[in-house]
Parts: sequence; structure tokens; C-alpha cells
Amino acid sequence: MVIAIAGRADSRPVGRFSKYGGVIVSVHRIVVVGGGAGGLELVTRLGDKYGRGKDVKVTLVDRSLSHIWKPLLHEVAAGVMDTATHQLSYVAQANWHHFEFATGEMIGLDRAAKTIRLAAVPAAADEGEGDLLPERTLPYDTLVLAIGSTTNFFGVRGAQENTIALDTVEQAERFRRRLMAACVRAQNAADAPAQGDSTSAAGAHSGGALLSPPAAQRPKVNLVIVGAGATGVELSAELRNTAEVLRSYGLKLDPRKDVRITIIESSPRILKALPERVSGAVAGLLTKLDVDILCGDSVAEVRPNEVTTTSGKVLPADITVWSAGITAPPVLGTLGLSVNRLNQIEVLPTLQSKTDPDIFAFGDCASCEWPEHGFVPPRAQAAHQQASFLVKAIDARLKGQNLPTFTYRDFGSLVSLGKFSAVGNLMGGLIGGSMFIEGLFARVMYTSLYRMHVAALHGVWRMMLDTVANRLRRSTVPRVKLH
Ligand SMILES: Cc1cc2nc3c(=O)[nH]c(=O)nc-3n(C[C@H](O)[C@H](O)[C@H](O)COP(=O)(O)OP(=O)(O)OC[C@H]3O[C@@H](n4cnc5c(N)ncnc54)[C@H](O)[C@@H]3O)c2cc1C
Repeated sequence: MVIAIAGRADSRPVGRFSKYGGVIVSVHRIVVVGGGAGGLELVTRLGDKYGRGKDVKVTLVDRSLSHIWKPLLHEVAAGVMDTATHQLSYVAQANWHHFEFATGEMIGLDRAAKTIRLAAVPAAADEGEGDLLPERTLPYDTLVLAIGSTTNFFGVRGAQENTIALDTVEQAERFRRRLMAACVRAQNAADAPAQGDSTSAAGAHSGGALLSPPAAQRPKVNLVIVGAGATGVELSAELRNTAEVLRSYGLKLDPRKDVRITIIESSPRILKALPERVSGAVAGLLTKLDVDILCGDSVAEVRPNEVTTTSGKVLPADITVWSAGITAPPVLGTLGLSVNRLNQIEVLPTLQSKTDPDIFAFGDCASCEWPEHGFVPPRAQAAHQQASFLVKAIDARLKGQNLPTFTYRDFGSLVSLGKFSAVGNLMGGLIGGSMFIEGLFARVMYTSLYRMHVAALHGVWRMMLDTVANRLRRSTVPRVKLH
């Protein structure tokens, strides 16, 4: 394993026989950009398949040094998951699975020269003067783009500046620290005798109907989540759990009365992409958890301590989370490849770019048709299926065969409400349609999605050991990360 920091230097040996069809070729360089839910699974399997041979070189590029499965980020934000135990170092994975890792953000593509451009990697404050790595180019023969998605703020005034998105570990950790700070401040304000009636900073704002109760009766910590898709809904339930755990650790706030959690959703119902029965069941459970749901209203403006809706409501907000939609990273619109209005790369059923057959794209950053349904949804299960497909497609490409075509299979959707429950629908040939599930069974199915990802990265035995180790570790760490 090498951390590929070299520039254009091209060390391709020529004139060797390849096992792929017996033709004389140089080393075939597969570069996968993005080591997320899909990209890391793909590069791990390609490394296992080709990494020990001499004909194919597999390289992963990511702007981060470590991977975390994105669907865990709301748990990181709520403090119920410690990133240290679930993050995977790209360098270590590259070593174990025989691929190379190049750190850096992809910022450009030269299709004629078949190179990608990586931004310089700046040094951290305590890592000395100058960049850690300069801007570089990396050559490819087959390029796979899997750089995921980023938050779509839809141009709402103040949204980007005054909300926290959950795209990265850093953002999730930032939210957790803000949450802890808001709770500590609220408790301190409640403890101060002269300020018995004072509330959090948000309480000082005046305006909408939601501020009408006397200050002493207002919640002391106000959390607003914009967007009631799976991320917003799952986060709201985890936050209720966090408030209850913090109470058991000595925080003197009443988790239900003093911590208000509100979800704002522009559609008439939460989880609009899921069947109505799932949506209704989840709404019922959230109401029992005292999560306020405001549907059919959109956000007009976000200010540092309040959110204003288009219907004129003003909600106090110590912290606002934005989980209202996704768009593909802006860089994709600059590469000269055909993209849709969300900047996702338009791909053929083979997952090749419609513009360039040497470039594949998959996962959240790709727009792939799903006949009779529209487009493959931006989900971890889609990225997982496409990664498995691409292992076969790339093998066919290396052998000079026709490429297979990708068919997405929807196995259903599951929404976790943390320790409280899980709800969803399972789909598939075996059960002959859609089946509603709830409770422990749904919870087990939900966690099995992550287990499948860990198994794809480490194998089934190591996944099982990891599961046991995590269960044992739980008895010696706090249920919510406190520092
Ligand atoms: C909080 C949350 C909960 C979710 N829950 C679920 C769920 O329960 N079920 C489900 O199916 N899906 C869920 N999703 C969606 C799921 O996480 C995504 O669909 C999935 O991660 C997409 O995988 P991907 O490989 O396309 O991209 P990602 O997993 O996002 O990976 C993208 C990778 O590309 C890297 N990258 C980005 N830009 C660059 C660049 N320019 N250069 C180099 N590297 C770059 C990033 O660092 C990252 O490693 C959830 C998402 C979130 C945020």
C-alpha cells in the first residue's frame, strides 16, 4: 500500500502479457473517487480481486482520512455514537485490501489527458508551515465517481449560515457540542436565583404565536429540525433519548418540558417518500415523544436564534438542523459531463457517464433511471447494490466483454426511532409485495443494514466480532458522549 502523493509521473510498465484476454497492455489504473457507503465497498472488493496482481492498480481518493457510514451521522449528532469506535482509516483498509489511497479533494478532470486534479491538502494548525500536500493530478484508465451528496439549502435566507447540516462527521460533532453547551447554559440560567424566569437566548426573542407562554413555562432548550425525511425524523427521536439520558446523568432539565424539539416539513406529511402507513405510525410515535411536527409550512428565513416560516410563525431555535434535501457536490457540474438539475451525473444503465464511457458514477452523485419508478433513490442500499454491480461491470470491461446493466431492487425502507422503536416496510419477491413492520423486528432489520456494510468491508467473521466488541464496550462508556 502506498499513499499516492505523486504527481503526473506515470510508471506504467508496457509490453507485458495480461491475463485479460492475453493482449499486451499496460497496467490498467482504476481510480475510485469517494470512499463512502458505496465507494469504499467497491474499492475493497476491487483491491481483493486485483490488488495482488500486476495488471490492475486500484486507487481510492477521498478528501477525508477516514470513513464513517453516513446513516450513522444523526446518532453521532445526538451523542449516542462515538465516532472513534466506528471510523475506519482509509490507509489501514488500503493496506488490508491491497489498494492505494490518495488523500485530497477532487477539483477537476481532464478527459483528454485522462487525469483528475486534486486540491492541495492544507496542514492543520500544529502540523507546521505550508500545505501538507501540493495540488496534484492522478492518471486513470477507468474513473469511478462516488462522491455522494451535500445539503441543499434551496436558497433559503440565512439557512446556510445559521443551521447545521449533517453531511460530515465534523458537522455532526459540532451539533453535539452545541447541544451540550445549550443544555449547560439552560441549566445554569435555571439555577441562578435572580434569573428564575430567564430562559435560553432564544427565549428573549419576541414575535410569533409559539412564544406566547410566560417565560418561566417556555422550554429552555429549543431544537428545530428542518425537513422530515428519514434524517430529520431519526434525529428528533435520538435527541429525545439524549435529553432523557442527560437527565439521568444529573442535568436538572426536564427532558420533555425543558427541551422542545420541533420538525418543520413543507409537505402535508412527514416521510413523504415512504408509504402513508409508515409515515402515520412514525408521526404517532413522535407525538408520544413530545416532538412537535409542523407540516405544510416551509421555512422562509433562519436567523441565529429563530426560524420564520412562510405562514409567519416564529420559532425560537437554540440550534437549527437543516435536513431538507440533497444536491450533488458542485464540482460535478464543472467536469464537462452531462448532469441533471441537481448536478448528479447522468449515467446509462451500465453506470457509465452518458458523456464518457471511461467514467462511471454511482450512489448519491449519480442519476440512474429506475424504469417505471423514476430514478434510483439516494440511499445506502442503492450505493451498496451499485458497488456490487460495478465489481462485475469492471471485470467485464477489463476482459473486453459487453457490460451488464444495473437493476435496482427495492428491499423497503426502515426508519429508526433510536431505543424507542423502528418502523418501516419490507419489499421483495419472497413476501410478495410490501409488508409493514414495527418494533423489535424492524429495529433488528435496521441495524442489519449497517452490519451488511461492515461485512462488505471486513468479512462476516470480523463483522460479528465487531458487533460483540461494541456490545461489551457499551458497559464501560457513557450512553451519551459527554465531552
Ligand atoms: C443522517 C443520515 C441518515 C441516513 N440514513 C439512511 C438510512 O437509514 N438508509 C439509507 O439507505 N440511507 C440513509 N442515508 C443516505 C445514505 O447515507 C446515502 O445515500 C449514502 O451514504 C450514499 O453513499 P455514497 O457512496 O454515494 O456517498 P457517501 O456515503 O456520502 O460518500 C461520499 C464520499 O465522497 C467523499 N467526497 C466527497 N466529495 C469529494 C471530493 N470532491 N473529492 C474526494 N472525495 C470526496 C466524502 O468524503 C465521502 O467519503 C442517510 C444519510 C444521512 C446524512
